[in-house]
Amino acid sequence: MANQPRPRIVCPRCKGEKTISGMVCPGFRLVTSECPQCAGSGVLPPHRADWWKGGNACRAYRKAEGLTLRKAAELAGLTAAEYSRQEQGMTNPEPIFKAIVQRTADAIDWEKLLAEATRRTPESPAGQG
Ligand SMILES: [Zn+2]
Repeated sequence: MANQPRPRIVCPRCKGEKTISGMVCPGFRLVTSECPQCAGSGVLPPHRADWWKGGNACRAYRKAEGLTLRKAAELAGLTAAEYSRQEQGMTNPEPIFKAIVQRTADAIDWEKLLAEATRRTPESPAGQG
């Protein structure tokens, strides 16, 4: 079994700095805290790297669809907070993928496709040779 370890990926959120800075209420103070994406390690474990890539793909798809985060979350049956976390790769974005697949499948007119496919199918080349 060739089960090679995958390369460690520098955390895209903190750029390997292990901490992130941001303004917080109240008072709009600048606070530096441990990066939640990599848990302060500066690198992403493989599953988190996959989540990150998947989340980015989900965000790109949502923007291409012209959906707001709130609307996309509603369509996926998720809260906006859950949806946002999945897009950021903080949690597994699989529910978003499933929702996209379901939405895409629902948008297809299967009856029409089947009718066209049946019409286009050439006569079976029975008894060739
Ligand atoms: Zn990080």
